[in-house]
Amino acid sequence: MKVLVAVKRVIDFNVKVRVKSDGSGVETQNVKMSMNPFDEIAIEEALRLKEAGKVEEIIAVSMGPQQAQETIRTALAMGADRGIHVLTDDPLEPLAVAKMLKAIAEEEKPDLVILGKQAIDDDANQTGQMLAALLGWSQGTFASKLELASGKLDVTREVDGGLETLTIQTPAVVTTDLRLNEPRYASLPNIMKAKKKTIDKKTPGDLGVDTAPRLKVLKIVEPPKRKSGEMVANVAALVDKLKNEAKVI
Ligand code: AMP
Repeated sequence: MKVLVAVKRVIDFNVKVRVKSDGSGVETQNVKMSMNPFDEIAIEEALRLKEAGKVEEIIAVSMGPQQAQETIRTALAMGADRGIHVLTDDPLEPLAVAKMLKAIAEEEKPDLVILGKQAIDDDANQTGQMLAALLGWSQGTFASKLELASGKLDVTREVDGGLETLTIQTPAVVTTDLRLNEPRYASLPNIMKAKKKTIDKKTPGDLGVDTAPRLKVLKIVEPPKRKSGEMVANVAALVDKLKNEAKVI
């Protein structure tokens, strides 16, 4: 079995995001970038399937500027076998990413595509679902457990009321939720080995995809600053403030 994993380069989750002064986006210059955390979980799950002898090859795919290669290298250092980098400096919307992943899936013919449930930069939560629709494949989103046996996948999903388990046929698209696994760190020998693994380079044009945006961002603003809290002496003072200042009781 072959697995394709989509890995996106995003602002590191520890970084406090700053909005550009002209409101056109967020500052990404001189900011630490890392692999989207849900995509690390996606790579980890593919590695576990490979270690269980159910998968032969894992291909990590990323779309974005030259530096997206670093994200692919991280996936290769974790244990993915080879990479595909679609080079573009254009901003990418989920539909464009899904169309490019579809073109790659048609070329590579994987049995499974694993994506993160969402990229923590735009929080779109759309790419996996769009990809499954474009390919006409089954989808298991927000997976918190995955079991693979002879062309069938049991996907346990986190839903409002608890957990739901679906059985779907491969080829399929799965998106990862936080509790699916805990991703490994790449070891030094594996980081060295990853340098020798191949990364194929493509452009959106090679895949026949027009990446022109379909959406228009009007403005990006910081959330309003919260007023600082205040310590009150006792319950009576609290009740007085809630009644007379906040007027909520
Ligand atoms: P989104 O729909 O933007 O929240 O992203 C969901 C998932 O799609 C991510 O976790 C990635 O697995 C994949 N994805 C989105 N954008 C890219 C990209 N530029 N390159 C590779 N994978 C991506």
